[in-house]
Amino acid sequence: MTRPPDWDVIILGAGASGLMCAATAGRRGRRVLVVDHARRMGEKVRVSGGGRCNFTHRAARPDHYLATDPDFPRLALQAFTPKDFIHLLDRHGIRHQEKEPGQLFCAGSAEQVVSMLQDECRRSGVNILAGQKIHRVDAEQHRFAVTTDQGRWQSAALVVALGGRSMPKLGATTLGYDLARQFGLKIVPPRPGLVPLTFGGEMLAQCRAWTGISLKATVSCSQARFTDELLFTHRGLSGPVILQISSYWRPGEPLTLDLAPGIELFARLRQAKEEESGLHLRTVLSRFLPRKLATEWLVTQGGEGRMAEIADKRLRLLADGLHQWRVTPLGTSGFERAEVTVGGVDTNALDPCTMACRTVPGLFFVGEVLDVTGWLGGFNLQWAWSSGHAAGLAV
Ligand SMILES: Cc1cc2nc3c(=O)[nH]c(=O)nc-3n(C[C@H](O)[C@H](O)[C@H](O)COP(=O)(O)OP(=O)(O)OC[C@H]3O[C@@H](n4cnc5c(N)ncnc54)[C@H](O)[C@@H]3O)c2cc1C
Repeated sequence: MTRPPDWDVIILGAGASGLMCAATAGRRGRRVLVVDHARRMGEKVRVSGGGRCNFTHRAARPDHYLATDPDFPRLALQAFTPKDFIHLLDRHGIRHQEKEPGQLFCAGSAEQVVSMLQDECRRSGVNILAGQKIHRVDAEQHRFAVTTDQGRWQSAALVVALGGRSMPKLGATTLGYDLARQFGLKIVPPRPGLVPLTFGGEMLAQCRAWTGISLKATVSCSQARFTDELLFTHRGLSGPVILQISSYWRPGEPLTLDLAPGIELFARLRQAKEEESGLHLRTVLSRFLPRKLATEWLVTQGGEGRMAEIADKRLRLLADGLHQWRVTPLGTSGFERAEVTVGGVDTNALDPCTMACRTVPGLFFVGEVLDVTGWLGGFNLQWAWSSGHAAGLAV
């Protein structure tokens, strides 16, 4: 007679989704082992939201996610909602605040969320092995065997919660994808998301000259459009609006930037010409743009002078140029600087209710390793909580 496996479930990865899955399964009385190569668990949670952890967004719905199957996240997000996570924080006495509408952060430190997850795991009897180098994972006779540099463990179920490729310095590797391939699943090619964009040539020179300037802008590409803060950097463009569009942008594609969103720039310039004809154009333009940007934009476009002297045609060209500035990024700052990975394990092979693999009984994938990527604003952690919870109820 074969011996029963050591564990009901082994979870690979002690990040956001792995710890949520572990606590949920442990609470159900499952014998849970979590294995991670990092010494400290929840490293990305710790640095998230600039150390304040933007742990959810009240509007977490599938339309705030990129996924080849756009409906895949729906059931898990409905089953464990932002409110559920807020209740969990409340039970642990962790105070939070809404910075932008819907965007929730810890009032204190992100460390509190990591401690809460650890505490939940402890109370549920979950065992966590940190600092383990995973050598191999095998599936044999309805059980999984995980071999690390320190031992070998068997389980009835295996949850892959190994995250995406973003920020290798925080522990990211490709192991999650390698395991998916090993078990016959497809991978939607991973690419950096929520990442600054880089430029070359004249555009780079301009970004360098304007490094540090930030302003509200609307940025669009063929697939999406966002309005938020834009920041010029010494490598190109960054800021929330660029991070958002970067998840949709494809190499070679131009972006259209509106540097004066919601303002009828031509009408406002015409009005100023009528009513304040003695003013310099740069003075008027500085009402709508940061002064340095307004001045230098006019230098490069050759359009300075008093309002009375400037033909309407020039004003029209200027307004159109600022509303529809077309630029083509050279690339992104790569996985080293990306907050998330777009693409990942093809969800076609998974049950959206449980995250279970349809073709390999007992195998589950949760969190960022999947082809589900949230917008900036707490959506990625909510996906980690919801998908981890879904699997935790099913293992
Ligand atoms: C700087 C930064 C800030 C962010 N801020 C926010 C935010 O404010 N709000 C938000 O919603 N999202 C934010 N995110 C994204 C969010 O942190 C991730 O989407 C989320 O942590 C994904 O959870 P996960 O469990 O899938 O993966 P992870 O949290 O990345 O966990 C994966 C775990 O697997 C382990 N692992 C990986 N490879 C191996 C291996 N080969 N062997 C053993 N263990 C391995 C890792 O050590 C890690 O513990 C941020 C990301 C970054 C990088």
